[in-house]
Amino acid sequence: MAKQINMAKQIDCLFCKIANKKTDTEIIYEDEDFSAFYDIKPKAPIHILIVPKKHFESIIEIEENGDIEILGKILAFAAKLAKKFNIENGYRLQFNQGKKAGQEIDHLHLHLLGFK
Ligand SMILES: [Zn+2]
Repeated sequence: MAKQINMAKQIDCLFCKIANKKTDTEIIYEDEDFSAFYDIKPKAPIHILIVPKKHFESIIEIEENGDIEILGKILAFAAKLAKKFNIENGYRLQFNQGKKAGQEIDHLHLHLLGFK
């Protein structure tokens, strides 16, 4: 049952659409698990969002489903991306969990904020 709800949400999920190239959003980097694109409201000179191609609502859902290894992979992906953008000496990684903390889209995403 929980899975069906998840799938229904996925159909309308903006980040699922972007990650699977169903929108015009430019994908700046990707591998088999993740897609990266620019945040439309940048809060740093370089502000990139990294999203898993698979739909996860939040860190809590990852913990509950036992997909913990995806969190290690997303950090490694972010490090690779930081190198590619020459910001390895100044970047911040941020997950916003829940509306109160500023999570606007219910699809797990990691903010990569780069400072030149
Ligand atoms: Zn999604």
